[in-house]
Amino acid sequence: MAKTIAIVNQKGGVGKTTTCVNLAASLKRLGCRVLVCDFDPQANTTSGFGVDKTSSPNIYDVLLNGTETSRAILSTTYGDVLPSSKGLAGATIEMIALDRREYRLREALEQVAEQYDYIFIDCPPSLELLTLNALCAADTVLVPVQCEYYALEGLSDLLSTIRIVKRSLNPAIALEGVVLTMYDGRTNLSMQVAEEVKRHFPGQVYATVIPRNVRLSEAPSYGKPVCAYDPYSRGAEAYDALAQELMEQNQPAAAAGGKD
Ligand code: ADP
Ligand code: MG
Repeated sequence: MAKTIAIVNQKGGVGKTTTCVNLAASLKRLGCRVLVCDFDPQANTTSGFGVDKTSSPNIYDVLLNGTETSRAILSTTYGDVLPSSKGLAGATIEMIALDRREYRLREALEQVAEQYDYIFIDCPPSLELLTLNALCAADTVLVPVQCEYYALEGLSDLLSTIRIVKRSLNPAIALEGVVLTMYDGRTNLSMQVAEEVKRHFPGQVYATVIPRNVRLSEAPSYGKPVCAYDPYSRGAEAYDALAQELMEQNQPAAAAGGKD
């Protein structure tokens, strides 16, 4: 049974999509069965895996047109993708009238959970209904934090949202971990931010830190994760290390090849 991990931070540009694409691809290389569910209407995870952003059926059809989840999933060399679409932006409004609207994604992913070790949900930069659906579908939350000014801003809102979801909608939800992104070891700022985040989340920040690396920003334009675009880059090595760390934390439940 898959572990479902939502990648959440309501700030844009902190590395959610980059982490989703590359962590998933690295886990796949380690032998895990992975699905990425692109839950951001911008569909950058979809194109980051080399899948057409206008691909149909997609997550919108699964949520609102009753399409079976497995029919919308596409297999790629780097892992399976449940593509997003621009139409997902309007789904929030369309879902308001629906029964159990917070659980639409959960019900969709449950259909395929047996087939994977990990399902990652790439969330949009907000805490509204789409992200709420992701939090209801997830076992855990992975929070990328950019090593920049105001890194911690908004994280208390995120944590209180998770607490509310835990109380009312998804009692089992837990924090998977916090990953520091775009770290620049040459600047005091990056180091200070890293220390501050570790103080705020004792024991919950990954030892692996993702450096600022231009290869990570180039890879999506080739429709590839960085491990395929430039496997020896610092960005690729970092996401491989993060995948290893995450897998070790989750042993033996989801160890590569550990179960079938
Ligand atoms: P989010 O999904 O949180 O909005 P993205 O993953 O799309 O954030 O990252 C925002 C921008 O920063 C993108 O252009 C991405 O390529 C770039 N980026 C992300 N992580 C890194 C990194 N470690 N080094 C260099 N550029 C990065
Ligand atoms: Mg994104």
